[in-house]
Amino acid sequence: MSKSASTSIPATGSCVPVDTVDVVLPLAVPGAFTYQLPAELAEQVVVGSRVVVPLGKRKYYTAIVIRRPGTFPVDTEGLKPVADLVDAAPLILPRQLDFWRWMANYYMCTPGEVMKAALPSGLKLESETRVSLAEEFTEEDEEALADAISKDEEDAPSAALQTLTPRQHILLQALRAVPAGKSLTIDELLKKCKAETGLLPALRRLIEDGVVQVSERLSRAYRPRTASHLRLAPDYQSEAAQHALLDALKRSPRQAEIVMALIAEPQLARAEVRRRWPGSESALATLRRKGVVDTFEVAVDRLTTHTADPAAARPVLNAAQQTAHDAILREWEEKDVCLLHGVTSSGKTEIYTSLIRRTLDAGRQVLYLVPEIALTTQITTRLGRVFGSDMGVYHSKFPDVERVELWQRQLTSRAFPLILGVRSSLFLPFSNLGLVIVDEEHETSYKQQDPAPRYNARDAAIVLARLCGAKVLLGTATPAVESYYNATVSHKYGYVALTERFGGVQLPQIFVEDVKELRRKKQMTTPFSPRLTQEINHALAEGEQAILFQNRRGYAPVLECRKCGWTPRCTACDVPLTYHRQASRLVCHYCGASYPVPTLCPNCEEPSLHAVGIGTEKIEESVASCFPAARVARMDLDTTRTRSAYEQIIRDFQTGQTDVLIGTQMVTKGLDFDRVRVVGILNADQMLSVPNFRAYERAFQMMAQVAGRAGRRGRQGIVVLQTRQPDIPLVHQVVAHDYAAMFAQQLREREAFRYPPFVRLIDIYLKHRDESTCAAAAEAFAALLHPHFADALLGPDSPAVSRVQYLHIRKLVLKVALDLPIQGVRRTLLAARRALIARPAYRSVNLFFDVDPL
Ligand code: ADP
Ligand code: ZN
Ligand code: ZN
Repeated sequence: MSKSASTSIPATGSCVPVDTVDVVLPLAVPGAFTYQLPAELAEQVVVGSRVVVPLGKRKYYTAIVIRRPGTFPVDTEGLKPVADLVDAAPLILPRQLDFWRWMANYYMCTPGEVMKAALPSGLKLESETRVSLAEEFTEEDEEALADAISKDEEDAPSAALQTLTPRQHILLQALRAVPAGKSLTIDELLKKCKAETGLLPALRRLIEDGVVQVSERLSRAYRPRTASHLRLAPDYQSEAAQHALLDALKRSPRQAEIVMALIAEPQLARAEVRRRWPGSESALATLRRKGVVDTFEVAVDRLTTHTADPAAARPVLNAAQQTAHDAILREWEEKDVCLLHGVTSSGKTEIYTSLIRRTLDAGRQVLYLVPEIALTTQITTRLGRVFGSDMGVYHSKFPDVERVELWQRQLTSRAFPLILGVRSSLFLPFSNLGLVIVDEEHETSYKQQDPAPRYNARDAAIVLARLCGAKVLLGTATPAVESYYNATVSHKYGYVALTERFGGVQLPQIFVEDVKELRRKKQMTTPFSPRLTQEINHALAEGEQAILFQNRRGYAPVLECRKCGWTPRCTACDVPLTYHRQASRLVCHYCGASYPVPTLCPNCEEPSLHAVGIGTEKIEESVASCFPAARVARMDLDTTRTRSAYEQIIRDFQTGQTDVLIGTQMVTKGLDFDRVRVVGILNADQMLSVPNFRAYERAFQMMAQVAGRAGRRGRQGIVVLQTRQPDIPLVHQVVAHDYAAMFAQQLREREAFRYPPFVRLIDIYLKHRDESTCAAAAEAFAALLHPHFADALLGPDSPAVSRVQYLHIRKLVLKVALDLPIQGVRRTLLAARRALIARPAYRSVNLFFDVDPL
C-alpha cells in the first residue's frame, strides 16, 4: 500500500514515466510513501539506504528506501522528489527490513513506528531533532578546525575534519554561533544556513564524527573519535640528526625537552604533551613550523572494548553442564529454539559461553540478549573477560553517538561477532547471525510497553533468528509459562534441564513466617519477623550479607488521614500518590509528577496524615534502627537513575562494602553475589494483589529468583518468606522449589479461564481527554467488533488505573481462538479502527493494540 507524499496517483492524465522509490518515514502513518527519484541519485540509491525527503510544507525526514519499483508513468505533479541521498550503501540490511515488516504486521503498528524504535536518533534525523556542537568540541578541535579551514598549515588535518566540505563549514559556523548549552532544531539550523541541498548528509557526517551531537537527556562524557599525536619528522629519525638538533636547541630548553621526549617515545599524544609541559603550545608550534615535529591523527574508538583474560578464555564445564550443553546441540538438530531450564547458579552462563565460542569459531555472529540494564554490568564483565574485543555492547543508556558508531561498525568487516545488548539490539544489522541467547527469558522487561511497537524481544528474537537461519537458546531458572508449554507440552521448542547448582551447593532452605499470626502475638514489632531478624544478625556476625526484597519503592505507598480517610491522589492520573520521605515529596508512579507533602489534611485540616504500607525507603530506615552496625544500600528506580549509580551499588555489595541490600524486583534479577547468606521476602502477598492473570506466575518467578541469590557459593543459603497466607499453594511451591507444580496449576487455570497459551490475547486500548468520548468510542468499537468475535471480545472496561496524564482509558480484551487465522483477525481489527476514527466524534481518539500483552 503506497501513497504519494501529497496527493494520490491518478489513473489517467498527463503522465510521464519517472523513476520512483518507496520509503518508510519514522511516523505512525501506515504504509509506505512514494517519491520521485531524481536522475542524479538514481545510480546510488539502493534498498536499505537513507534518503532525505520532504513532507508537508517545511518538514524534512530521514527515510529508509524499502523498494525501488522502477520507472513507471505517474503524474509528477503529485509526486515530490527525494531531496537528498544519505547513504550510498544500505544502512538497513534486507533481512532487517523483513524483520521490520514482520514486527509491524504482528504487533499491529506502522513500519515507521518500528523504524523509530530500531534506529538510534543520530541515524534518523528529522526536522525536530535538536543538535548542538559536541560539548568537548573545544580547544584542540577548534584549533584543528581552524587549521583545516585556513589551509595554510602543512599539517594533516584531523581525520574527522579532513573531509570538511563547504557545507560542513557552513553548518559548523552556524552551530558555533549558538550559546553554550543551547541547541537548535535541524529546521532552525537549516534556516540559518540558507543553503538548499546537501546539508543533511553533511550534518550526518558531522554527527557520526562526533563533532555535532544530537541532544539527549542521557549522555555520558563525549570522547573524541581521533586524537592528535606528535612524532619527529622523518628527517630527524637518525641519531646523528637528533644530536645536531638537540645541539641547535640548547637555548630553547622547552623545545629540547619535547624533542627528547619524542626520542624516548616515538609518538606522544598532543594532550599528553600539554599535560606534561603546561604552556608549551608556542614551543610546539615552533617545532612544527620548523618541520621538526609532525602531527598526525590516531583513531580513538569511542566504543568500549574489552580485554580477554586468557585464563577465562575457555570454560571447563562440569559433567552436568557438559551433558546439558550436548543435549542443546542435539535439540538444535531438530528444532530452532531450545529452552535451557537450569536452577539458579547451575552455570547457565558457562554453557552460554561455550555455545558462543562454538558459534564464533564457526564464523557466525551471536546476539546475547539481557532483559535490561540491571543485568548488563555483571554479564559485561564476565563475558568481556572471555571474549575481549570480539564483544560489543549495545545499550539504551549509552550515548546515542556510541550506538550510531556500533551500528555503522556492524556494517563493516570489523563488525563485532558478539553483541551483548538489551531488546533494541535486535534491530542491529547482523550479516551472519548464528545464535541468539535470550537470558532470563521469563523477564517481563523484554516487552516494550510504550510506545509502539509493543513487542516482546524474546518472541521477536525467535522470528529474527528464523529469518537469519540462526538458533535460539532461551535460558532461565523460572521459565515463562508459555515457554515451558512450548518446550514440554507442544514440543515446539527443545527442552534441556539442569537441576543441580554448580559445586554441589544446595538450593536455599526456605522458612515461611506467618505475619498475621505473629502480629496477633505482638511479635511483628518491625517489618522483620523474629526469624528473619535472627538470620540477619547471624549473617552480619559472620561477615556475610543479606538481601531484602520489598517490591515497592518510596517510603509508603499511601498517605492517609486518620480522621477523615482522605488520601492524596495525582491530579493527572487516577492513582494515589506514593510518599517519598527522603525527597520529601508525594510522587505519582504513573506520570512522575511530584507534589509537596501537606502538613495538615487538606480535607479536614487536622494534622493527622500518616503513612500506610511499606516501601523500600521505610525498610532502609528500619534496617538502620534494627541493625545499627549494618552498612545498607537500597536499589530501586530512585537510586539507580544513572548507570554509574547502579553500577556502584552492585560493586559495593559485591566487594562487601555494604552488608544489606534492599530492593524492589531489581534485586531478583540474575545477579551473582558470593556472600549472601540470607534473603528476606518481606511481603509475598502484595505480589498476588496485582489484577493480572500472570500475577501468580510472576510472584513465583520473583520469589524463586530472589531466593536464588542466597548461598550461591559455599554453603546453603536461607530464605525467610513473610506472608499472611502461609497455606496457599504458591507458598508451598516456592518452598519446595517446585516449578512443575506451579506450572501444572497455572495451566489448569489458564485453560479453564481461557488465557494464553490456550488463546491469543490482544488488548485494545482507547485513550481520550474526555471521559465520555472515551467511553462512547469504546462502546462503538465493541459494537463494530461484536459481529466478528462475539464472546471472544470482553469489555469495554475501565482498567485498574483508568486515567493517566489526563487521558481517560478504556480497555477491551480479545481472546482469539488459536485456530482462527490471525491475519484475518488483524485485518478486521484495523478495518474497525479505520471505521471508528472516520466518525467525526472519534477522530481524536487514540486507539491502539497490544498483542500478546503481559
Ligand atoms: P546461572 O547463570 O545458572 O545462575 P552461573 O553461570 O552464574 O549460574 O554460575 C554460578 C557461579 O558458579 C558463577 O560464579 C560461576 O562462575 C560458577 N561456575 C559455574 N559453572 C562453572 C564452571 N564450569 N567452572 C567454574 N565456575 C563455574
Ligand atoms: Zn500522575
Ligand atoms: Zn482529614
